Amino acid sequence: MSAYKRILMAVDLSEESDQLIDKTCEIAGRNDAELSLIHVIEPLSFAYGGDVPMDLTTIQEQLDEHARGKLDAFAAKLSHPVKNKLIVSGHTESEIHRIADEHDINLIIVGSHGRHGLSLLLGSTANGVLHGAHCDVLAIRVQPVEKDKD
Ligand code: AMP
Repeated sequence: MSAYKRILMAVDLSEESDQLIDKTCEIAGRNDAELSLIHVIEPLSFAYGGDVPMDLTTIQEQLDEHARGKLDAFAAKLSHPVKNKLIVSGHTESEIHRIADEHDINLIIVGSHGRHGLSLLLGSTANGVLHGAHCDVLAIRVQPVEKDKD
């Protein structure tokens, strides 16, 4: 019996996310696993609270819709079938933990940056996901994607 029947891949929808694809699909394929994707949107109200004297609902809805399109496009690049494409709202690490528990996930896959030694080996999100997860967590090292300078 394979160890990882249900895998949750955390996707921040940056260009770096593509670097998680090959290894995730290989692991999912080898385990004949159900693969789910999760993208967490931190609500604008978290950042601005009551400080902005306007209704952020429409902007929030547009952000959610944009993320939905990007997650669909991301899923289409995967060679392994995707069972769930989840977009949730809240704090990234705690939402990943919540969904992992809810879906009885055996393995969470996140990206991590390995820039300056051991203390920063895990990016902040990867670190937060690792601490508090009730299942295995695989941090796949990603390289920063250089942006074109104008
Ligand atoms: P960071 O530590 O923020 O550079 O992110 C590292 C990894 O955490 C990413 O490669 C994703 O796997 C995951 N991650 C970060 N932000 C999100 C997000 N909003 N939704 C889902 N996963 C995320």
